[in-house]
Amino acid sequence: MLVVQKYGGTSVADADRIRHVAGRVVKRVRSGDQVVVVVSAMGNTTDELIDLALSITPDPDPRELDILLSTGEQMSIALVAMALRALGQEAVGLTGQQAGIYTRAQYGSGRIARVDADRIKAELDKGRVPIIAGFQGTTEDAEIVTLGRGASDTTAVALAVALGADRCENCKDVEGVYTADPRLVPTARKLQDITYEEMLELATQGSQVMHNRAVELASVYDLPILVTSSMVEAPGTLIHGGSELEERNRVRGIAHDTDVAKITVRHVPDKPGVAADIFEPLAAEGVSVDTIVQNASERDLTDLTFTISRKDLKRAESMMGSICESVGAAGYAADGGLGKVSIVGVGIQTAQGYAARMFRTLSEAGINIELISTSEIRLTCIIDAERVPDAVRLLHDAFELETAE
Ligand code: ADP
Ligand code: ASP
Ligand code: MG
Repeated sequence: MLVVQKYGGTSVADADRIRHVAGRVVKRVRSGDQVVVVVSAMGNTTDELIDLALSITPDPDPRELDILLSTGEQMSIALVAMALRALGQEAVGLTGQQAGIYTRAQYGSGRIARVDADRIKAELDKGRVPIIAGFQGTTEDAEIVTLGRGASDTTAVALAVALGADRCENCKDVEGVYTADPRLVPTARKLQDITYEEMLELATQGSQVMHNRAVELASVYDLPILVTSSMVEAPGTLIHGGSELEERNRVRGIAHDTDVAKITVRHVPDKPGVAADIFEPLAAEGVSVDTIVQNASERDLTDLTFTISRKDLKRAESMMGSICESVGAAGYAADGGLGKVSIVGVGIQTAQGYAARMFRTLSEAGINIELISTSEIRLTCIIDAERVPDAVRLLHDAFELETAE
């Protein structure tokens, strides 16, 4: 079988771990499988490179920043390829560009437009293991573009799709996808499998274990992803398309995120076009808005609240004065200390009692709900960031996730 294996930053954090990864890959190749490897930057390298850039200037040029950040993954490919060769396995490190991963010029948030997999196939035919730098691509004009934080997962899925691989294996410091972040909830349980749609909601609501665009892409091409440990041999979690009947109507997992800021625009005239006038300038500045709630209007005035990432708060606030003026709002209030907690499971929105149990659990712990948002398979409460860990643990208990399967 042909597999794409992705190793994250923790799995290649130092020389010992890199040698361990190489040993794992060699074993797999010797068992008869064809393996393409995608790697992330070692440990916290990407964060360190960002800090380095910020120590030069508070506002680094996006093009140059991408050149800098792409070097993190390039270190990893060279070292992993060396480690494989040291074990007697032919291997070749390839940058995003050498691997034929093409993007458009959206520095810092590129999307993969196409993959020209000829080079990778040729290397496989020669019996070499291609080791590909995740998180990066090239434009048709040979500009280096990174794909967004955590996006090595997406590189791996895109390559698996382009190569027609049997599956993508995402090798991590955890053994699979758990009912909640095991770092926060020690009793969290590893799931045997999970559907694309549930995993996509968990990832989008803050569960770091998979990049949401990787899940989205896998779901479009029906490519199975196995989330598994890079450290120990243990069955992982299969992310796939089918949903078993008995898995419906049940909370499958809890996602959390402590990076939420909220802005409330007060006394907005309730007339057509106002929402567009508020959100267009924010979008133009690259501030992406998450939950939006508009209250019922009183005397043709309404309050409009929305959430954004905390890192965008300063930029958004610098625009809010002129936005309020242009729409004739009374003013705005901002709160940068929020987080969110979500319960996810196919069928839970239509089944009775889930919302009530979630709200009751939070209220009994004195946790105030600031905003609520829902999808067909998700309920999210926006709460004080400091209460997020408590909320996750209490909800994990309340929905009996430790024992549910
Ligand atoms: P990688 O570097 O391999 O991409 P990440 O650090 O991005 O790995 O993601 C793995 C981390 O995700 C784990 O260490 C774990 O703390 C966190 N995590 C959050 N939610 C979950 C979950 N539901 N199941 C497993 N891990 C989770
Ligand atoms: N190294 C990049 C990051 O830290 C990409 C990744 O790890 O997936 O965001
Ligand atoms: Mg990751």
